Amino acid sequence: MTRQPLQTSLDQYEVWFVTGSQNLYGEETLRQVAEQSQAVAEGLAGLPVKVVWKPVLKDSDSIRRLALEVNGRDDVIGVIAWMHTFSPAKMWIAGLDALAKPLLHLHTQANVELPWAEIDFDFMNLNQAAHGDREFGYIQTRLGVARKTVVGHVSTPAVVAQVEDWQRAAAGWAAARTLKLARFGDNMRYVAVTEGDKTEAELRFGVQVNTWGVNELVEAVEQVADADIDALVQVYLDSYDVADELTPGAERHQSLRDGAAIELGLRSFLEEGGFGAFTTSFEDLGALKQLPGLAVQRLMAEGYGFGAEGDWKTAILVRVANVMGAGLPGGASLMEDYTYDLVPGSERILGAHMLEVSPSLTTATPRLEVHQLGIGGKDDPVRLVFTADPGPALVVAMSDMRDRFRLVANVVTNVDAPDLPKLPVGRAVWEPAPDFATSAACWLAAGAAHHTVMTTAVGIEVFRDFAEIAKTELVVIDEDTTVRSFQRELRWNQAYYRLAQGI
Ligand code: MN
Repeated sequence: MTRQPLQTSLDQYEVWFVTGSQNLYGEETLRQVAEQSQAVAEGLAGLPVKVVWKPVLKDSDSIRRLALEVNGRDDVIGVIAWMHTFSPAKMWIAGLDALAKPLLHLHTQANVELPWAEIDFDFMNLNQAAHGDREFGYIQTRLGVARKTVVGHVSTPAVVAQVEDWQRAAAGWAAARTLKLARFGDNMRYVAVTEGDKTEAELRFGVQVNTWGVNELVEAVEQVADADIDALVQVYLDSYDVADELTPGAERHQSLRDGAAIELGLRSFLEEGGFGAFTTSFEDLGALKQLPGLAVQRLMAEGYGFGAEGDWKTAILVRVANVMGAGLPGGASLMEDYTYDLVPGSERILGAHMLEVSPSLTTATPRLEVHQLGIGGKDDPVRLVFTADPGPALVVAMSDMRDRFRLVANVVTNVDAPDLPKLPVGRAVWEPAPDFATSAACWLAAGAAHHTVMTTAVGIEVFRDFAEIAKTELVVIDEDTTVRSFQRELRWNQAYYRLAQGI
């Protein structure tokens, strides 16, 4: 079988920059439109996803053909559109109706300042995005086209930053549309929120969610060669602060070798199947010697999505967040709200999991240790131990509300943790916005999950853009949130999302 190493990068993608006009203006004006739109596109040249300028669009047929070409190209993940002149928007109906990729409407113009003393009607004729883009806005709204609108000149850093957020969301969307997710075993018994409609997930997000018996993974682990284990153990010794008892020749070295075999077997299974995300279940470990801890932590840090206890919805979010944050400092991880420090005025949440928190959340060198785990009834598992770096972060959960998926996000701040000498797992300590009580009350009102993706690489705007592209509900708990307004939003959304889906 051919193995497909996972790609977690924005380098292979491009977005196309299209400019709308019409034939009315004559050759000289259209030449200037082409030149100036190339200059605008070049203003976006520093972005992580390559921006490719396309010849000016002047009629319905070329607009529709461009949309079809974009749809057919896996590497083209979105379109940026600007109406430098007036492009009568009925010309855009067929193209916008056909376009199946993310759209950004850049409402800009070629110049920053108006040359007041020089303006004649030729200038007015050329620089009329102020109303050309309004005509375009009308038809997008009339057709119900999901899009992001960015307003301002490309020399403004905030404008470029918004385009980058959208590019990252579009990349997350492209990754979801091609994501294959392997579940080893089923969900943890009796748990509600990790359940969901896998058929609907494939329709809405494009993710293929399927299950394999855990013993197929066991077979892959058993086929791992000793020499490969030796090599991976050396990687561990080079990368982490490894506990003495795990080092070669020490009394518990075999635990480390068992952990390495699980990583190698898991990796070969995922690469042979072309999977970008997976789940495990501690209730369904078959003949695996340990609950996969270290292996899962390292695979998440490389870009894989992961959910524990069969939680495929969170695994999707971890994969998408890993792609959206590609190349940025920080990372993305499965996280679980575990326990609270309720000291009035400085309430904090301690998040962790049994083992599976990604070391991409820390810039420090993690400890590699082995400890007993009361759950699962297997050998003591090896795991990386660290605390997430202080700084801005975001937690996002996905719930299946029966007729749709709901994303709930909380803007949080990771803070320094006190020493936790008796808690040898990866963990994070955070303060949620706007305050602990409001955050928790809203989270509970929304029916949001206890599993989340925590990302320290991208902010809420990227998730807002992702939700818009995915046409999926997102409710946000941030500095502006009050419980009452949040509850009203939930009620309105309940009606809106049912109506928006039609009958
Ligand atoms: Mn859990």
